[in-house]
Amino acid sequence: MAADSPPADPALDARVDALLARIDTAARAADRDPSDVLVLLATKTRTPAEVAAALRAFHARGVTVAVGENRAQEIATHEDPQLAALEAELRVARHFIGRLQRNKARDVIDFASLVHSVDRDEIADALEHRAALAGVERDVLIQVNTSGEESKGGYAPTPEAVGAALAHLDARPHLRVTGLMTIGANTTDEPAVRASLSQLRVLRDGLGRPEVRELSMGMSADLEIAVAEGASIVRVGSAVFGPRS
Ligand SMILES: *Cc1c(COP(=O)(O)O)cnc(C)c1O
Repeated sequence: MAADSPPADPALDARVDALLARIDTAARAADRDPSDVLVLLATKTRTPAEVAAALRAFHARGVTVAVGENRAQEIATHEDPQLAALEAELRVARHFIGRLQRNKARDVIDFASLVHSVDRDEIADALEHRAALAGVERDVLIQVNTSGEESKGGYAPTPEAVGAALAHLDARPHLRVTGLMTIGANTTDEPAVRASLSQLRVLRDGLGRPEVRELSMGMSADLEIAVAEGASIVRVGSAVFGPRS
């Protein structure tokens, strides 16, 4: 064994196997190909070593994942030299999934190839400005507040509001809208969760724009419902890393 091989972590392996089995079962039940569902690791509060171990566990199973950061301050985690090298080696895409602040747009543009959380026009403007200065283009998702929970960001879940957001972004040449994102209702009431997630799919289909295809929805607790409702990206934290302390 190479000197720098990480120690075996049977608990992590078991969580990863269980997660992949859940996605597999949910996809097959919905007549979908499990490989059409991208697993994004929500890495908030985890150490570089924890993130690296999880990336290796998926890689060992032949699964390419993405990493998602919530907080601009935690982007620095991924600049850990060993983690950054591993992310590059395994071609792990870096996404941003958190509440955006205008003054952090530059960090987010530098870090993320896909920004899930464009939740208001002024954020679109700040990202466009920074992408233009950096001379790069970025993919973005329009975050929609399908749960109606005030604590959550996002455009109103109406065709008018989402259509207006899309029109605003269409006029921002360094940003390309590839889909919609939502955080489902925070409840164990399954019909309520399903309603909020299916609403995102209906909104996407109503746009009539084939290139706006991604549906980022579903977390550890509700990913079966999300996969059934058409999720193309599920954002998973605790199911892989264990409960947050
Ligand atoms: C933390 C987080 C997740 C993952 O949550 P878990 O319940 O730990 O799977 C997904 N999406 C966003 C936006 C998050 O902040």
